[in-house]
This record gives sequence, structure tokens and C-alpha cells, in this order.
Amino acid sequence: RVIVVGSANLDLVVSTPQLPRPGETVLGGDFRTVPGGKGANQAVAAARAGATCEFVGAVGSDEFGRQLRDSLAGAGVDVRGLRSVPGPSGVALIAVDQAAENFIVVAPGANAALTDLDAADRAAVGAADVLLLQLEVPLPTVVRAADLARAGGTTVVLNAAPAAPLPAELLDMVDVLVVNEHEAAVVAGVFSDDPAVLLDALLALVPRVVLTLGARGAAYADRRGVRRSVPAPVVDAVDTTAAGDAFTGALAVGWAERGGAVDADAVTDALRWACAAGAACAQRPGASTALPERAAIDALYAA
Ligand code: ADP
Repeated sequence: RVIVVGSANLDLVVSTPQLPRPGETVLGGDFRTVPGGKGANQAVAAARAGATCEFVGAVGSDEFGRQLRDSLAGAGVDVRGLRSVPGPSGVALIAVDQAAENFIVVAPGANAALTDLDAADRAAVGAADVLLLQLEVPLPTVVRAADLARAGGTTVVLNAAPAAPLPAELLDMVDVLVVNEHEAAVVAGVFSDDPAVLLDALLALVPRVVLTLGARGAAYADRRGVRRSVPAPVVDAVDTTAAGDAFTGALAVGWAERGGAVDADAVTDALRWACAAGAACAQRPGASTALPERAAIDALYAA
């Protein structure tokens, strides 16, 4: 059982031959809306990976809010903890040119209104095996959720995205930190191309670290001295958008299914499975629409 406390955004995506300069208007191509937000994506990733998954977040009182709620529920995510608040939903305005360069402006909207967790949230967090957090809702809410998890014996997994330096108050409650290389550097305040250097710096802050390395897979280190690196399955990557969300959602599921991944072999296995999820996502175009089902993850894991 996995619970996510985090963001839901509707991505408003338009293709364009070239990105506009300030003050310029360009004529774009196809427009589409895609459910997104790191919190919602990771909840969908966990549900598709086969977990019972609950999402605590906020959408607006607009049509986008209804669309986001339907999309989560349609993926099998329990949305009892999803609030509808007055005002607009979170959106990401995205323009993408032919070279896949993009402009993105995120308006947090309702996500900024996720400021308190109630008794029902407390019970849900305490009943879960894993609480999965990101950094797209107000930081005090992230801290509060982690605090509720600690009180309930629930494992706290933090995906520190978007990258930001973090207060000790939060880091002290994190059981497993999941970061890519850029996020690792920002959180640690150490800039290095060497994964071992990043892992060492992060272990000064949290007890367990998972570092994702794109096509190179993932690395793990903990304060007990365990270090593992796991290659990603070799795939034809067409679009790596949301690969990190697929990885993190599946890792939370794999961690819970292995009883907290206490020994080094269980950790390695959970990492291999999460890498299979990231790779399966990279094989398909699109963001949340590319998050893989359990069967697709298992197939790459077994290959
Ligand atoms: P983010 O998207 O957050 O930067 P990464 O690029 O590190 O995260 O990707 C997350 C995971 O997805 C990787 O650890 C890996 O398992 C998988 N992945 C990403 N890109 C590829 C790829 N080109 N081939 C295979 N697996 C990939």
C-alpha cells in the first residue's frame, strides 16, 4: 500500500516550429492536454505497477480539476484524499519545438492550497507501507506528511524534484531519498560527475539514497555501507519524459512488496524492477500516458 501526498497539474502542450522570443507570436501546431504533476504521475505509476495507491492533493473547481480527478480514478488511484478547492487547477503551459526544446511555465493553482492534512489523511498515511513525496506542493505540507508517516511507522520516500536545497527538518525524516544527478547536486550542494561523490555527500543528510542515471540505470548507497549499481534494460528510447516518475512510483511499490527492502539483495531487486519501469516508460512517447503497466515492467525485468 502506497500513499502519495503531492501535486496534480494539467499539461497544456502545443507544438511549434520554433519557440517564440519575448514579445513574439508564433503559429503553433497540434494542441493537447495531458494529466501531469509529479505527485499524480507517481501515484498513477504506482497503481499501474500493481499497488493499492491513494493520492492526497488538490485540484481546482474548474473543468481541468474534473479531468485530473477522472484521470487518477481511471488509473485505479484512490482519490478519497483529493480535495477540490475554489479557483483554478494547477497547469503547466508547455511549448515544444521540432528539436524537442521546450518552454514550460507552471502555475501551481490549487496545489498551493494543499496546506493542511486532516484526520483522514493522518489515518491513511499511517496505514500505508510507503509515503511518496515530491516538492511541488508547499514545503510545510511535505514536512507535515513526513511527520505523520514517522508517527505511523510508514517508510518516507522523498523524490527531491524539482531540485531544491532542503531543510534539516525534512531531511531528518526521510528514509529513502530518490534523485537524478542534477537533483543530487542541488540537494547535496556538491557538483560532481562522479555518482560515488554525490552518494557520499547525500549520505551525510539521509540514511539511504537512490540515484537515477538515465540510460545507465541507478545506484544505491546506505549508511550501513551497502552500495549497489544496477544497469537499466537496453531499450529503444523514444521519449524519456516521465521516466523518473515511472521509476520512483515503481520503486515505492517494489520497496513495499519486499517488506521494506531491508537486505542488500532485496534493495538490488527493487532497483532492477524500478529501472525496468523507467525503461518501459522511455520506450513509449508521451508523459503520464507512457507510464507502464505491471506486465510491461515484469517483461523488461525478466529479459
Ligand atoms: P529523470 O527523468 O528524473 O531525470 P532519469 O533520466 O535518471 O530520471 O531516468 C529514470 C530512470 O528511467 C533511470 O534510472 C532508468 O532506469 C530509466 N531510463 C531513463 N532513460 C532511459 C533510457 N534511455 N534507457 C533505459 N532506461 C532509461
